[in-house]
Amino acid sequence: MQILTTPQELAAQCRQWHAQGEDIVLVPTMGYYHAGHESLMDHARPLARRMVVSLFVNPTQFGPNEDLAAYPRDHERDAAIAERHGADVLFIPDEGSMYAPDHATWVEVPELSHGLCGLSRPTHFRGVCTVVMKLFMLTQADRAVFGQKDWQQQAVLRRMVRDLNVPVCIETCPIVREADGLALSSRNVYLTPEERAQAPELQRGLQAARALAARGEARVKVLRDAVLVRWAEFLTLGRLDYLAVVDPESLQPVDMLEPGRPALMACAVRMGKARLIDNILLTL
Ligand code: AMP
Repeated sequence: MQILTTPQELAAQCRQWHAQGEDIVLVPTMGYYHAGHESLMDHARPLARRMVVSLFVNPTQFGPNEDLAAYPRDHERDAAIAERHGADVLFIPDEGSMYAPDHATWVEVPELSHGLCGLSRPTHFRGVCTVVMKLFMLTQADRAVFGQKDWQQQAVLRRMVRDLNVPVCIETCPIVREADGLALSSRNVYLTPEERAQAPELQRGLQAARALAARGEARVKVLRDAVLVRWAEFLTLGRLDYLAVVDPESLQPVDMLEPGRPALMACAVRMGKARLIDNILLTL
């Protein structure tokens, strides 16, 4: 596995592979790998002759009061993991090489970026789209793999790719969880033992809504209230950012579930220094 640190090196290597007739799959990440990242690499590995994993804590997707400086980093361990999972290249650029001091160009999908996580992170998806577009341009990847944990992110990126005719095929992998149901996240290291003990309640609340929907409850207000009542009792250390039920593709709010049309219940909860997100599909 090569470790590349400049956009120029990455572009040159990918151009060479394409010239040789070799296709490329890209796995964008911010590092500090856990089994969720590993599952993306394992899914990606057989999809193309060459696998590029990028590791970049992208400053433009962090808000001014967010955890950019504190975001956990361990490049040595990450490199060992990426190599073990078959990466041909691990791309670890430094900030200066990705953004010129007078960087002024942005890719945005406003329609899908203002709700859900966009409510409290208004510039987040603009940063995500811009950096992922840069990675698509540099690698000319044939395929790219993302996680369902960041459902809104992959929905936004799918729309960007469709609208701009980017010739890449996006694949999305299921959420990898701890045994107790907490979705794996690099940010889980911020949790205190007390917060960690309550955190699986995020998923349990969503599961309760899914069970109600499966038994025929179509009213989103009732489903939402059921989760909020549970959380009021069991998630006392959490502060709700949002809990919403939306169309999985358009991300538009849904009031009533309809037969044969799964809806996405998504949430974000702040616990101490962490902001946890999770989601589940509800089917009537
Ligand atoms: P991050 O490094 O947190 O930006 O995540 C990089 C990629 O890994 C994104 O596509 C995430 O959706 C995905 N990912 C993060 N956590 C998980 C998880 N628990 N299960 C599956 N994919 C994940």
